[in-house]
Formats: sequence, C-alpha cells, structure tokens
Amino acid sequence: GNPPDLIPAGGNVCHAVLFPFMSKGHTIPILHLARLLLRRQISLTVFTTPANRPFIATSLPAGAAASIIELPFPHDIPEISAGVESTDKLPSVDSLFPHFALATERIRPDFESALENLRPRPSFMVSDGFLWWTQDSSAKFGIPRLVFYGMSNHAGSVSRAAAVDRLLLGSESDDELISVTQFPGVKVCKSDFEEWARKPNPEGPHFDFVLKSVAASSRSYGYMMNSFYELESVFSDHLNGLGKQRYYSVGPLCLADVDEINGGKEAVLAAKLKPAWIQWLDEKLAEGKSVLYVAFGSQAEISEEQLEEIARGLEDSEVEFLWVKRKGGGGLEERVKGRGMIVGEWVDQREILGHASVGGFLSHCGWNSVMESVCAGVAMLAWPMMAEQPLNARMVAEEVKVGIRVEGSGRTGFVRRGALEKAVRELMAGEKGKEVRRNAKEYAEKAMQAMEEGSGSSWKTLNLLIDELCNKAT
Ligand code: UDP
Repeated sequence: GNPPDLIPAGGNVCHAVLFPFMSKGHTIPILHLARLLLRRQISLTVFTTPANRPFIATSLPAGAAASIIELPFPHDIPEISAGVESTDKLPSVDSLFPHFALATERIRPDFESALENLRPRPSFMVSDGFLWWTQDSSAKFGIPRLVFYGMSNHAGSVSRAAAVDRLLLGSESDDELISVTQFPGVKVCKSDFEEWARKPNPEGPHFDFVLKSVAASSRSYGYMMNSFYELESVFSDHLNGLGKQRYYSVGPLCLADVDEINGGKEAVLAAKLKPAWIQWLDEKLAEGKSVLYVAFGSQAEISEEQLEEIARGLEDSEVEFLWVKRKGGGGLEERVKGRGMIVGEWVDQREILGHASVGGFLSHCGWNSVMESVCAGVAMLAWPMMAEQPLNARMVAEEVKVGIRVEGSGRTGFVRRGALEKAVRELMAGEKGKEVRRNAKEYAEKAMQAMEEGSGSSWKTLNLLIDELCNKAT
C-alpha cells in the first residue's frame, strides 16, 4: 500500500504536486526529481492513471512522504485501443501520439476536484509539457506550475532559434546544413526537425497539440530541465536571457539516487538474483570495457530490414554487444549468440551503463539515455530516429563531443551494415573513440559535481527554486 499524505517532521508543510506524462521516458526523470524533493523535506502527491500507477508506486522510495492519486484515463478514444494508457503501448507513436496527448485533457475535471481538496495546499506543481491543460488548473487554483520537458537546453534553444530564423522555410534540401545565426558554429538541417514543424498543417492534431502546449508553457512559472549548467551553459544562458521565465537545470536527474545506488549496491545485488544479461556482462570483466551496449529506448519503431542490417553490422565489427531489442527481429538472438546477447525485456539501463564491462553505447539519443550515458562516463554512438533525437545527436557528436554520429542515421535514414561496422570500430578502438571516451569521463565528473550537496550548480538551482516557491506560498 501507499502511505497516506504525510507532513514531514519539523513543521515544514511544503507540498508539491507532480504529474508525469504517460510514458516511461517522461515518468522516470520526474520520479528522480521526486527523490530530490523528498530529500528536501517536501511532501508529494503524484498524479497518474490506474495502469501507470504500479510503475510509479514501485519506483518511489519506500516509506516516502508521497501519495499517489490515480485519475481515470479515457478508454473511448477512437484512434486508440481501450486499455492503452501509455504511449509506450501505442502501435505507432508517430501517428497516434497527438490523439493520445489531446485526449489527456479529459482528465482535467477529476484532476481539479482532487487538486482542490489537497491538504496542505500545494505550493507548486511540476507537470509535463505535454499535459498543457494543467496550466489552466494551475491558474485556477493559484498553484505555480513548473513545466517539465524531458528535453535539453540545446534542443529547446536551437528549435526556437530555427523558428526565429525561419530556417525551415528556406529552399535548402532536407539534409543540407544550415547555420543557426544565434549560435555561431551550430548547424542543423531540416530533417533534424519533426514533420509538424517542417510541413505545418494547422488543421492537423499534431499542430493543434504543439500550439496548445507551447502557449500554455509560456504562461507557466518556468521550466524544469533535466540537465546541468556545465554541459550546455551557452544554451542555458540563451534561454534564461529570453525573458520572464527561467529554465532551471536541476539534473542530471538520473543521479538523484546515486547515494542509494552506491551505498546500497552490495545489499541490493545480494538480495536479488542477477539478471542473465548482468551475469553475461560479469563474464566479460577480464576483457576490460569491451562490450557495446545497444538500445533505442522505449518508443522507436525499427523495420525488419534495418534490424537485420544492425545485426550484420554489429557482427562484422567483431565487438561484443548487449542489445536490448523491443519488437521484431525474431531469430536474431540465435544467430548472434557467439558475439552478442539480445534481450527482449525491460532492463535497468543505468545498471548496464554502470557495469565495468561496458565501453560504449549505441543509442537513439533519447534525452534520458544521453544523460544516463554522460553520468556513467560512457561514450556514445549516436543514431537518432524520431522526436528531438536528431538535435540531441548533434549535441552529443558536435557540441560536447561525447560520441560519434552513425553515418546515414536520422529521422528517415537507413544505416548500412558497413557504416555501422565502421562506427563501432571507431568508437571502441579508434582515435576518435579515445577522444570521445575521454570527454565522456570528464563530463561524468562534472555531472557528479553539479549534483553535489551544497556546492553543485544543480543543487543550488533547485534550492533556489524551492526557496522561492515554498516560502512564497506558506
Ligand atoms: N529504460 C530502461 N530499460 C529499458 C528501456 C528503457 O531503464 O529496457 C529507460 C532508460 O534508462 C531511460 C528511459 O527508459 O531512462 C528511456 O528514455 P529515453 O529518453 O532514453 O528514450 P525514449 O524511450 O523516451 O525514447
């Protein structure tokens, strides 16, 4: 069971509401933020829907001053199968996402009745940018809202600058590099951006949804960013120089439970049977950081042809690999057995990235994966697929240089086995690989420092924010 609403000892009655969006990639970082807030004696109420509750309940620390309120999710959305309450379960995220996201507005009346009755009265809420309608609830009850976008300061400011520069309206072809005038040295191409931005269709659900989200966010108290100042100071300064709202970089959020991980690692490992893939990684320990970890997040859709090409490229590279593969590619497990392990289950990605046998990460560059890789000091092979991942890949390979871009990868790209083989060899054994690994190590240290109690930039930023919000309302 969950503990009832608790008020922390010491008379501090600061209470915050968290409302993550219904996908793992958006829920995980908010739950890490929850830990940071709990450690500062803030009590929490987390809103979610019935099907998403178990994941949240098991992710919050035991005995925490946090309660969970579940609100019914509409099951009669024409485009979406009844029972689906997470974008992770959509057969096609690209086409169905806006229908799903727009339907969340129907949760609003239940959310507001619950909000009205919460005691102590919440001092602030952190809700996902995709739950744009929570902005109206925030205004109605006078509870300041921090918008959580699981996005980097880089992607936020480059997208904005591209709109200001009207970059997507020029005559360049989709893959031609275009300079972003506000950031000297930064180049993007049209295919870095999503379809709704490149071919705006004001009648379409995606455009409708984006406009609503952006408009609502612009009325919020500010933005909660899963990043740290030292990683992207130029872009963070840019966003913070824009106007009334602040962008609070309080991460990397994946380090929120680092004390517990370090302190409790032995006990945790002793208590549970190690999963097969961790045992497999253990067996490689003598070979140093020899294993490439391969994972494309929880949403990516990859064709059978591309899966086959990935398997061939990995095999040809002669590097050992651990591949977390969600859908498709039946039969590949058997074929790659000599060189790689393929896992079809949910894994603890941070545990894998932290394993001493892992020397590289072939990633779709979802922002959480980028942060987790940076925190583990593991260099990346960047293979972006959708959403803002192409911008993240530029950040990884061209800005902070903690990874190498896989040639041919992109929103509509197809990667040939030879290109993948070359990239893997370069990362694991080449000169460029050495350089990006060194950079990754440096950023891992900076990430730890940013979260350091008392002195870290993220630690101070979050404290400042809490001071503003908790003292204002009480
Ligand atoms: N993740 C995990 N195990 C899995 C798949 C994903 O722990 O088997 C986590 C991963 O560590 C990250 C999140 O799910 O925290 C995925 O977020 P990301 O932004 O990388 O990609 P998305 O899934 O949103 O595309």
